[in-house]
Amino acid sequence: MYDIKGHLHEVLDKLPVGVRLVAVSKFHPEEEVLMAYEEGQRVFGESHEQELARKVQTLPNDIEWHFIGHLQTNKVKYIAPFISMIEAVDSLKLLREIEKQAAKANRTVRVLLELHIAEEATKYGLTLDACRQLLADGEWRQMTHVQICGLMMMASNVDDEQQIAHEFETAANFFDEVKQQFFPNDPHFCERSWGMSDDYHIAVRHGSTMVRIGTTIFGPRVY
Ligand SMILES: *Cc1c(COP(=O)(O)O)cnc(C)c1O
Repeated sequence: MYDIKGHLHEVLDKLPVGVRLVAVSKFHPEEEVLMAYEEGQRVFGESHEQELARKVQTLPNDIEWHFIGHLQTNKVKYIAPFISMIEAVDSLKLLREIEKQAAKANRTVRVLLELHIAEEATKYGLTLDACRQLLADGEWRQMTHVQICGLMMMASNVDDEQQIAHEFETAANFFDEVKQQFFPNDPHFCERSWGMSDDYHIAVRHGSTMVRIGTTIFGPRVY
């Protein structure tokens, strides 16, 4: 049996102070989530709203759920009542829908803007210019039920560590730019969500405040 508790602690031991762990539990059953929970882990990441809705019903309610996958606008209503953070906001349209559904649920949802920096054409996210434009447009400033807390990105899925480091560095520099330009006095805008099982050791050297790790903790996913 895969040693979830042991692997969780191995990861936690490697994280520098100031970097939080999102344990990515997608495709892993409730019992496995509970094993990490029993060790004190409270932040979990999921990327399918149906699977998440099922887990939320049975798992302890002090879990902080992060939605880390691509979220379709018409699915926001299902998770808005309980989601703690939506990490991959990649359009104004999605942001508007989160505002609307969070208002209905009478709560504030924390979000991250997802950047597209990796080379792969299949990855979602805002280009740096599109992100600048979304922020400059300013509509988000009127939104009272979403709190933009920072940026999220995935590096290219390659072996070249220099390339990966370069992509994290690009994201970190971009964070500094938008922080200064749009959020200078907003302490909530502070999160840099980058680093997964294969590259979090690089991400933590390049400004990450939040790593999203699944396979290393829970073992391979069975799809
Ligand atoms: C699945 C997933 C992860 C975790 O990936 P691992 O390689 O299993 O650590 C992290 N971020 C996102 C956005 C994911 O979809």
